[in-house]
Amino acid sequence: MSLNVELKSVARHYGPVKAVDDVSFSAGPGEVIALVGHNGAGKTTLIKLMLGLARPTAGSVAVLGQDPAAGDASVRRRLGYLPENVSFNPALTGRETLRFYVRLKGGRPREENGLLERLGLAHAADRRVGTYSKGMRQRLGLAQAMIGTPAVLLLDEPTTGLDPELRQQFYGIVREMGTAGATVLLCSHALNELEGNAGRVVIMNEGRKIADGSLDELRHIAQLPTKIRLKT
Ligand code: ATP
Repeated sequence: MSLNVELKSVARHYGPVKAVDDVSFSAGPGEVIALVGHNGAGKTTLIKLMLGLARPTAGSVAVLGQDPAAGDASVRRRLGYLPENVSFNPALTGRETLRFYVRLKGGRPREENGLLERLGLAHAADRRVGTYSKGMRQRLGLAQAMIGTPAVLLLDEPTTGLDPELRQQFYGIVREMGTAGATVLLCSHALNELEGNAGRVVIMNEGRKIADGSLDELRHIAQLPTKIRLKT
């Protein structure tokens, strides 16, 4: 299987803080993987390493076979990223917002229209984003990350603040991206919402990977930190 993401013994230290320490994992096309851990576990730093925004202190990171920090535009175009707490200019409409990002990222002409449709925002496309609910803003954020049909989609805490129904709607779209062949990596605090949504879970604790497997496999690990322990 070809690999879209490959981390080998990666560390990222900030002075004495080991944000990420000796982490290895790889992900292939079609995998939906959740990165789970407490605040400060190193999830965002892993995403930054995969985006090429941080360089490893040790080890290597390859995304689509390349070093993401090398700045290769063809790799950057195939990476989608939804930051935590994404915010948009409230005075622009959904369509204007997305059109702006389509142009910025060199997407297909009028790609925004298909994305608005796909994410259930067509009816609100010409309304200002300031009138959108949190769930609609998150879907607009996901639409932005999906421009150009990325091979690797990185989502940082995408469901924070969404009610359970909106979470499931959001995961439905994420699963579709996986089925279409994208590698999806998403950060989460909670394991309970991942059932049926993430095929694999990587658990981070204090910068280290402490578990990596399906939810069923992880259910049997007793030494998980209490707050992220699975209900059995
Ligand atoms: P959260 O769920 O709060 O986003 P996280 O799992 O994403 O947490 P990171 O943001 O990756 O965790 O942070 C891991 C550790 O590294 C934390 O102790 C954080 O304070 C530290 N850290 C991250 N970035 C920097 C930086 N630029 N400078 C110094 N320390 C940093």
